[in-house]
Amino acid sequence: MRQRFGIGYDSHVFAAGRPLILGGVEVEHDRGLKGHSDGDAVTHAVIDALLGAAAMGDIGRLFPDTDERWKGADSIALLKEVRHRLNAASYTIVNVDVTVILEAPKLAPYIASMCDNVSRSLGLPQSAVSIKAKTNEKMDSVGRGKGIQVFAVASIGGA
Ligand SMILES: [Zn+2]
Repeated sequence: MRQRFGIGYDSHVFAAGRPLILGGVEVEHDRGLKGHSDGDAVTHAVIDALLGAAAMGDIGRLFPDTDERWKGADSIALLKEVRHRLNAASYTIVNVDVTVILEAPKLAPYIASMCDNVSRSLGLPQSAVSIKAKTNEKMDSVGRGKGIQVFAVASIGGA
């Protein structure tokens, strides 16, 4: 089995009147993330890392935001769909590592649930999913709390 790697990145701007969903977990905060779907930047970055590892395009190509089917979509459902597409192409997901950059709120109380959601959606043991959060030390727009940035790396095995 040959090992392959993919990188994923996502960013969303905070917006009032929306729940903050990250890794399929609702995080207590006074704002959520703007987006056509639920704005789950963690799950979106993981999806792009997996698709990148398989050279199967990106989230925008698979689930276009012009398509009403994906409006307000549960991103965890999209992640499960990506898992099925990779499996159908004979790829095995090995592990995922994520770094979330945001000034607030603190994600520490939610990280275990986020890892649990992502690992279960991908059919992986918890030891195969890592999610870390950090601030941008008040630098730039993310540091001023305007939005969130997420980086993800995925490893898969296959042809
Ligand atoms: Zn996104």
